[in-house]
Amino acid sequence: MDPRPARSNGGPPSWLVGVVALAAGSLLLAGCGGGGGGEDAGGSGAEGYPDREIAFIVPFAAGGPTDTVTRLVAEPMSAKLGQQIVVRNVEGAGGTVAAGEVANADGDGYTVLMHHIGMSTAPALYPNLAYKPLEDFKTVGLVTTVPMTIVARKDLEPNTLQELVTYVKANADTVTYANAGIGAASQLCGLLIEKAMGVDLTEVPYDGTGPALTDLVGGQVDFMCDQTTNTTGQIKADKVKAYAVTTPERVEALPDLPTTAEAGLESVEVGVWHGVYVPAETPDDVVAKITDALATALTDQAVVTKLAELGAPPAQAADVTPEAHRQKLQEQIDLWAPIIKEAGVTAGG
Ligand code: ASP
Repeated sequence: MDPRPARSNGGPPSWLVGVVALAAGSLLLAGCGGGGGGEDAGGSGAEGYPDREIAFIVPFAAGGPTDTVTRLVAEPMSAKLGQQIVVRNVEGAGGTVAAGEVANADGDGYTVLMHHIGMSTAPALYPNLAYKPLEDFKTVGLVTTVPMTIVARKDLEPNTLQELVTYVKANADTVTYANAGIGAASQLCGLLIEKAMGVDLTEVPYDGTGPALTDLVGGQVDFMCDQTTNTTGQIKADKVKAYAVTTPERVEALPDLPTTAEAGLESVEVGVWHGVYVPAETPDDVVAKITDALATALTDQAVVTKLAELGAPPAQAADVTPEAHRQKLQEQIDLWAPIIKEAGVTAGG
């Protein structure tokens, strides 16, 4: 895969801009009105909702970044809804096992999914994906967009991203790259790294980057890419070597860490956006209650402070809506599909 030309500053890399423009065009044509999904699910179901415990499904292992964000918002959401929210980790296949389970769950508001950018990449990665993101779910609202960091075990030789490029190229057969499976943000970041470095990485898949980072700290794998929600603490504690952050701007929580663009790998740019989903049949007024609880959680001072510490700013109020979230999902599906196709990556049948 040839490296793409770089963007200069801010926004998506220039090699993505044309695709984004196309995506925006197709959105206008689609003219979708609401949170998407089910056709007859607009009616009333919210009376008395919720009157029992709600399951909040996380598609990756406990202790990882998606899990962290989910648990952070679950508490204030639970307080707002007046019901307990039980977080459940359903790991496997880069987040697609959990999404498949929620797509088939009852659309009654008692099964809710937190997912990230992987919701938009899975259709291109999995030829036989058991669900359609835009048809089988209703979008509830965006949550946060989290930068990733490129980190390595503490004793890996290279000290800068450029040194890492040289090292990986020279040791392509032995260097190991940890990720959370095909469809995970870490896999997507690895794909961009492969493309930028012109190498094939030896990937070591985990059920989530929580356990992957534990192994990285333990020296069992060489390097990985993961959200700041998981890596900030380990970087600050000097337990891993950090090379760069994958967003156009530096992260306030890690001010000394250069961006990939500053460090010379500008095409490795990825922000891990997170959103909340329910099955498509969920009535709109139930969705509205969950959206309202999510919006409340994202302005909760304790949540805002903690997210800031982890380099993960809460979504703006205008984005904590089914419509903005659906638009983002559509754009991102359109954005990543050709890139993944060109990369020739597939999870098989
Ligand atoms: N950060 C992981 C990913 O690569 C998922 C996780 O464990 O939250 O997508």
